[in-house]
Amino acid sequence: MASVKHDRVENGQTPTWINYIGGEWVDSHGGRSIDVLNPASGELYARMHAATADEVDRAVSAARAAVKTRALYEMPPHARMSLLFRIAIELRAMSEEIVPVLVGENGKSVSFARDEIECAAQYFEYYGGIADKVFGKSIPLGGGYVDYTQFVPYGVSAQIVPWNFPLEIAARSVAPALACGNAVITKSPELSPLSMCFLAKACERAQVPRGYFNLIAGHGSDVGEALVAHAGIDQIVFTGSIETGRRLLHHAAEKIIPMVAELGGKSAGIVYPDADLAAVVKSAAIGIFAHGGQVCSAGSRLLVHESVHDELVEGIAAWIKTRTMGPGLEDHFFTPLISEAQRDKAEGFVTRAVEEGATVATGGSRPAGRRGFYMQPTILTGVTPAMEVNQREVFGPVLSVLKFSEPEEALEIANGTEYGLAAGVYTKDLSRAHWTADRLEAGTVFVNQWFAGGNETPFGGFKKSGYGREKGVEAMANYQQTRNVAIRL
Ligand code: NAD
Repeated sequence: MASVKHDRVENGQTPTWINYIGGEWVDSHGGRSIDVLNPASGELYARMHAATADEVDRAVSAARAAVKTRALYEMPPHARMSLLFRIAIELRAMSEEIVPVLVGENGKSVSFARDEIECAAQYFEYYGGIADKVFGKSIPLGGGYVDYTQFVPYGVSAQIVPWNFPLEIAARSVAPALACGNAVITKSPELSPLSMCFLAKACERAQVPRGYFNLIAGHGSDVGEALVAHAGIDQIVFTGSIETGRRLLHHAAEKIIPMVAELGGKSAGIVYPDADLAAVVKSAAIGIFAHGGQVCSAGSRLLVHESVHDELVEGIAAWIKTRTMGPGLEDHFFTPLISEAQRDKAEGFVTRAVEEGATVATGGSRPAGRRGFYMQPTILTGVTPAMEVNQREVFGPVLSVLKFSEPEEALEIANGTEYGLAAGVYTKDLSRAHWTADRLEAGTVFVNQWFAGGNETPFGGFKKSGYGREKGVEAMANYQQTRNVAIRL
């Protein structure tokens, strides 16, 4: 087993975590670090060394050198498969060590943290399972020729990860990238950079060839920008907001390299009057309140047929009372938001919605007398399509409820934003479910259960929610390109 030099150093009371570049754990020479706060208390939890521009350069050089060795590309496919499986094994082996760190830096519950680690491990198994089943075609050209296609990795994959599911989203892109033979540089999110160090540790322990996985931390505006602007990268894989995505697309255009854009959402669930309302209550509540609504595919809008509107709103308000609020370490359902700014942002949306005429059915603000970045689960009724809260992503525990009377009207409201990440339909009538799903402008449609799907199902946006598909077999297309070889015999 490769030795782990040190992934963190004790610095007085505050542990300081470091970057992983070219197969080594490195202290940043810039002397800058990021304060990582515990969302449940607002107190300093740890420090993370921020990479310098030189270190970004070093990570790109390490990745370029790795690609040049062709070590992963020429590895027998079954060996690449085993390598990815070993990463999964190493991640699972560290699970109980990762859980408190992920909870401590991110605020999420122990249960959600465990699920995230398991999901991350499963990505390596899923793409490990595909790694030895990638092959091109033989194309007949008539006598005197042999023609075949090959799948070729892009080379150096620069990956930028958001803070809501740092480990899971990193694994979602790193696993298929390695399965295809690319070298990866991942920039962790500044608010939640620590748990991803375990991914680097798993890669090290699994003996991923030197330079094929690099992890750097830092703010988007300098370290992220230095990475995506670097001339030595061959693709960008970005998961985050529309605003940042747009900026990164300029960098991709400048270099003429491909970019995967997994951006935000404002997803609507349509509730027809024949739906199983008890099931809708639970599904819709989990759809918006899981991890405080800090989920790209959160069901932040519920479009309810007028005949069942009141019953459903009362049902969700009652469901909220069956769950408790508190620190993730105690495994409460309603855990704090990631930061003070995120909580203030969610509160601001509610205030402005009320000014525009919406009604707070429950919640609406931060809970009184609590430290940390808590926000009450909130239901807004009387929301209309033009309101800001119906049009813009809150990324917090705020459910907007709108009424409709005709299916066409529901579709118009659901499709009436610039987003197109996910959508949902609740009905017992399969024909109506299909009719609706087929008209929803979204890359994912959930029928009768929000978040249905898994690592196996493709995920990505229509419209400004982005393009490219992560997850599933489809994601392989992001990480390899086709070369045609035509031979005149
Ligand atoms: P963000 O865009 O602010 O940041 C995302 C990442 O980009 C961070 O690592 C940040 O440091 C980096 N970044 C910021 N500016 C940069 C720059 N100029 N150059 C390079 N990197 C830069 O988003 P966020 O607040 O971290 O995440 C929330 C957003 O992510 C929401 O909109 C959410 O819907 C979206 N999201 C989408 C998916 C998906 O799969 N579609 C998944 C999770 C989150």
